Amino acid sequence: MTIQSTRPTDAPDPTDLAIRPRTTVLAELADRIAGYVHGPGEPGYDEARTGFNLLTDHRPALIAVPANRHDVVESVRFAAEQGLRVAIQATGHGPGAPAHDALLINTSKMTEVTVDPVARTATVSAGATWAPVLELTQRHGLAPLLGSTTGVGVVGYTLGGGFGWLGRKYGLSSDAVRSFDLVTPDGNPLRVSATSHPDIFWALRGGGAGNLGVVTDVVIDLFPVSTVYAGNLFYPAEDAAEIMRRFAAWAPHQPDDLTSAVTLMNFPPLDIVPEPLRGKSFTLLRGCWSGDVAVGAEIIDEWRRWKTPELDMWAEMPFSAADAISMDPTDPMPAMVTTEWMDELPDGAVDILVDRVLPSPGTMPLILFAEVRHAGAAVARGATDAPNDRGRDGTFLLEFGSVVPDPHVGLAVESAQRLTRQALTPYVTGAAYLNFLEGDEKAARSASAFSDTNRRRLNAIKAALDPENRFCHGVAFG
Ligand SMILES: Cc1cc2nc3c(=O)[nH]c(=O)nc-3n(C[C@H](O)[C@H](O)[C@H](O)COP(=O)(O)OP(=O)(O)OC[C@H]3O[C@@H](n4cnc5c(N)ncnc54)[C@H](O)[C@@H]3O)c2cc1C
Repeated sequence: MTIQSTRPTDAPDPTDLAIRPRTTVLAELADRIAGYVHGPGEPGYDEARTGFNLLTDHRPALIAVPANRHDVVESVRFAAEQGLRVAIQATGHGPGAPAHDALLINTSKMTEVTVDPVARTATVSAGATWAPVLELTQRHGLAPLLGSTTGVGVVGYTLGGGFGWLGRKYGLSSDAVRSFDLVTPDGNPLRVSATSHPDIFWALRGGGAGNLGVVTDVVIDLFPVSTVYAGNLFYPAEDAAEIMRRFAAWAPHQPDDLTSAVTLMNFPPLDIVPEPLRGKSFTLLRGCWSGDVAVGAEIIDEWRRWKTPELDMWAEMPFSAADAISMDPTDPMPAMVTTEWMDELPDGAVDILVDRVLPSPGTMPLILFAEVRHAGAAVARGATDAPNDRGRDGTFLLEFGSVVPDPHVGLAVESAQRLTRQALTPYVTGAAYLNFLEGDEKAARSASAFSDTNRRRLNAIKAALDPENRFCHGVAFG
């Protein structure tokens, strides 16, 4: 049985000439595709270049908004003919280096999702987010390996790995891929899988975000998850060091059914934040247990007995409500994130995190949150066959996130994150998690996610597919 999502109501109307570009070059591409083409200064250009992360200010030479796979092929061929670099944006949750003077392919109108509950697979187009995939799959008691928010794009998330609340049990989203439909940098459509172009398939499963062509569709495995025990315990900020130390000792002994994290959170003083949390800092123990609910509740009861939290939101819930675990923002914002992996979380690292992330009285925090996710289990086991082997085999994944409300604050935020990472140098593996790198840092640090052997193999694949390196706005192999 196959179920199809509703087609987007705002699909491009190819007869709408009013918004067609004026210059000849743009008109040439516009004549070749059913979707939209926008040049600088034209209606639709600003909207199509702007994504979730408002800090990235792409200034592309032109933007193609494909309606379908054929449009992607034509856009990529056009870029090759014109010698244009190519950047890709679905939602803008994880931008690479700004796409200045490039062709930006905005996939956000390609939102088709098809679920096959018998085969336990979903076929997802380049612009779809996790929201419709989760909704359609949960109707059958199935779940995809989405991350902390359904607002992120399925393809971009999966190409960079994809570590979510089922990660320790089932692995990264890239492990669950059956096939990709790829448009190569010279404009050839290819279906890649374990049996067809296996080298490219290997590279795309965690190493190929934005640099090996445009993925137009992905087929992913689904897993039998419908009810989980999940949520957050809110402890006072003053208890942060004690809670992190307990977490460091406790997490490595937990079953694979539990993916958990400890988060130092400085809730901003904004109206969108509920009153009891607004402007306050907390230490959160958060996570998702996907085994027997009673067993999960007992595991979290250990924490409750040890110390009563100020607020207790762990509960049995449908996995369809998984967004409630991380409570990520849904509206676009200027944000800066960075990442490190650690094999252990020793006292020295805990002290640095607590000192540098939680604000002293009267100061504004520059780092909004620091989250330490417990990985290992299937996340680490999958490293053997994955291109991003170094970028997934640690025990604890650290992410910092900051909001940059004003460009003048940007330098201060960037230096707070960089100095905190520097202070943590003795405790980190030196590898990055690709999905938590953005902007110029993505190009600068992504090579650290690959072992030397894998980097050589990835570079050989890249050289064969894109010898001129025109797809250079995503992950770089170094
Ligand atoms: C609020 C928030 C929560 C997040 N939570 C998690 C989490 O829990 N786990 C996790 O692993 N990550 C998480 N991420 C990171 C996220 O997975 C990455 O930023 C991912 O790259 C976003 O993909 P996107 O398509 O939505 O974003 P985009 O910015 O549109 O794309 C990101 C990059 O992916 C590449 N790309 C996108 N589409 C294609 C395509 N069709 N073909 C080839 N390359 C493509 C491009 O290089 C592009 O620059 C989170 C990010 C945010 C902002």
